[in-house]
Amino acid sequence: MRDIFRMTEDEAYEMFKSIKWPDGMPTCPDCGSNKSWTLKGGRRWKCQGVTTDPVTGGTGKCHLQYTVTSRTPLHSRKRSFSDILVSIAEFVNGVMGTAALRMKRWEGSSYKTPFVFQHKIREALKVDYDQKLNGVVEVDGLFVGSKKVKPPFPITNDAELEKFYDLYRKKQTSLVVVRERPSEGGSKPGRLRVIHRESEAAAVAFVKSVLEPGTIVHVDYGNQWLRLNMHFKLMRVNHSVSYSQNGACTNWAESFFSRVRAAERGVYRYWWPRYAEQYGVELAWKEENRFVDNGAQIDMIISCLMRAGRSSFTGYWQRHKNRLPF
Ligand SMILES: [Zn+2]
Repeated sequence: MRDIFRMTEDEAYEMFKSIKWPDGMPTCPDCGSNKSWTLKGGRRWKCQGVTTDPVTGGTGKCHLQYTVTSRTPLHSRKRSFSDILVSIAEFVNGVMGTAALRMKRWEGSSYKTPFVFQHKIREALKVDYDQKLNGVVEVDGLFVGSKKVKPPFPITNDAELEKFYDLYRKKQTSLVVVRERPSEGGSKPGRLRVIHRESEAAAVAFVKSVLEPGTIVHVDYGNQWLRLNMHFKLMRVNHSVSYSQNGACTNWAESFFSRVRAAERGVYRYWWPRYAEQYGVELAWKEENRFVDNGAQIDMIISCLMRAGRSSFTGYWQRHKNRLPF
């Protein structure tokens, strides 16, 4: 791994630039032209491309002035490239997730800087979610977002306890994972897609949308998955009987969930429903790339950031001045 922590600002800048434009040609984020004038300082370009008005059909000059980070989540960044690189390295090093509070202590920054930046990364990791999964996949859901609560009233028998937990479960939300099985020999590690919904049933449309036709889908006996039957070959396993039946099993999905539970115990503690999906996306990405070395993971995250559009977290603290992030 290159020494990220000792990189000069110029070296860090070149790293972002070469990942964004591998052929070294600055390209306009609006019209896609790589004809440009280099402006003073050499890190800003003015586009020479031609644009077409979608309504009138008339043509005009683009003339957009852009930099490496224009139209990306790092648009209007305040921090240096070398600082951003250190934050990315920290994000990668936290195998089970990285608490923003820990980053704050490490970087000596405010809480908001790492909080917002980490969410920008998590958002950017979804940039490849439009690539559909195929082959054999496993789908399963996990309850998140609600602490184990003590019954607020004395409970005298098992039936009452069962009733209480029935009510309690209704308050929980589902993190649903779609996981490709790795190919034998490990040439294809298997990709993951994650969504957070109020129930597994509410995630069915998403599951359908991320799969190519012809995919074989392994699920448990939950009735909500039956709706997938019309589109895919469904393999169902009844977990109350055994973990694998007639070749059907969801062990790969389960092993992702053990990472989620570890992160829940060790790092994020409580999954605020608003951010549950973001944490899930982060952990899924880490699971998918668990055999990729840290240096390559940093490159991948920069690539995601450079390809993702502007983040919904841009200006977050201007909009939410007086509030905590949850
Ligand atoms: Zn342009």
